[in-house]
Amino acid sequence: MKRPPHVSGPPDPSSIDTSERPFVLIWEVTQACNLACTHCRANAQPKRHPDELTTAEGKRLLDQAREFGPGQLVVLSGGDPLTRPDLVELVEYGTDHGLRMTLTPSGTASLTPEIISDLEDAGIRRLALSIDGASPDSHDTFRGETGTFEQTVEAAKAARDVGLPLQINTTVCAQTVDELPALRDLVSELGAVLWSVFFLVPVGRGRILDPISPDRAEEVMQWLSDVSDEAPFGVKTTEAPFYRRVSAQRRRDASDAPATDRIGRRNGIIAGDGFAFVSHVGELYPSGFLPESAGTVRDGGLVDGYRNSELFQSLRDRDALRGKCGACEFRHICGGSRSRAFAHTDDPLASDPLCPYVPNGYDGPMPTGRASSD
Ligand code: SF4
Repeated sequence: MKRPPHVSGPPDPSSIDTSERPFVLIWEVTQACNLACTHCRANAQPKRHPDELTTAEGKRLLDQAREFGPGQLVVLSGGDPLTRPDLVELVEYGTDHGLRMTLTPSGTASLTPEIISDLEDAGIRRLALSIDGASPDSHDTFRGETGTFEQTVEAAKAARDVGLPLQINTTVCAQTVDELPALRDLVSELGAVLWSVFFLVPVGRGRILDPISPDRAEEVMQWLSDVSDEAPFGVKTTEAPFYRRVSAQRRRDASDAPATDRIGRRNGIIAGDGFAFVSHVGELYPSGFLPESAGTVRDGGLVDGYRNSELFQSLRDRDALRGKCGACEFRHICGGSRSRAFAHTDDPLASDPLCPYVPNGYDGPMPTGRASSD
């Protein structure tokens, strides 16, 4: 039966203090998945982990998420969340307790129109599906399973049929970057409200893929800005906050205002600053791509870990950033990918090696691990 109208709308983004609460809380409900995607952060496994958070522990986690404030956004990710038989129950529980629940299932035969309808009835706010190639051949090769392209497209249509807002997630790496224009067209055809473009971070199975070079990434950012200006859907980047620097530079170049007036000060969302991730076994991380734990949520430590742990507090201090990110006039609106910095240097406060920007007057060391594969 369909849930009653939701009581909690999205909080006003400008009212959110990211030192107090995340814009986005991701809960990796499981690492189990029937796919074996080449880029998988989670190193997904066929079977559920025996120490996964139970249904009761999951509900306690959702209770903790409520303490952040009304309308907290919770993304249920995996693995494939559909491998949990209690998924609809968890969505209902979160919805009934004022959370905004969204879901990132895998494109498999389990993602039927019936389960999409059940999830919609349970109050899910948005369905996010991954499409990494614009054709069955390229997408299925990337996902390691024949038929996932068709299943994902069918799921997208089923979501549209029940009026469920759709988000498409795409991984950008050397193997996928040339398909971005065709993917943009597909995102539009499917009627998505948001295209989330993820710039590869070399963790999990993603280590075997090739990142694009910084110069190519800059070109892609400029192109995405054009797409954003023209497309009927929104565009956001994941693990590439310098998209905001590129957008600010474009606005600045299009106006006569002094550069400082066009940059703005509100912090962009990065790992630990507006973003938090809870693993399948209940560890709290700044992001799913930054494997430094701030403790477990099993003992009720979600809100305290986010607000008060040394790790999260250091990630929110943009003046503590090192190298050229620390010297950058865009560090507040951007801040670089802390996950990629960590993946390349073991230092989450180092510079993001994907960003080619050199701040005015900066003559210090350049980031290590700069990719140059294309
Ligand atoms: S140098 Fe760092 S803070 Fe500046 S735009 Fe690039 S990634 Fe962002």
